[in-house]
Amino acid sequence: MISPDLLAILRCPLNPSKTRLLLEGNHLVCERCALKFPIKDGFPVLVVEEAELPSGCDTVGQLPCQCEDSPRHA
Ligand SMILES: [Zn+2]
Repeated sequence: MISPDLLAILRCPLNPSKTRLLLEGNHLVCERCALKFPIKDGFPVLVVEEAELPSGCDTVGQLPCQCEDSPRHA
């Protein structure tokens, strides 16, 4: 289980300055881009390659967190 204190400091790796993550079952979900990060053995795996893309989104480049940091739009 992720403690509220830990949850408060975790951020989406695509945009660490602005995002918060929400606990949803056995995943952490970015409130902005909706990437779903798995929690393995009680530790959140905040790796984009391990995360589940939201439905309707094929690549990480389409996510709002990613788009903001990059001048190139996919
Ligand atoms: Zn995000």
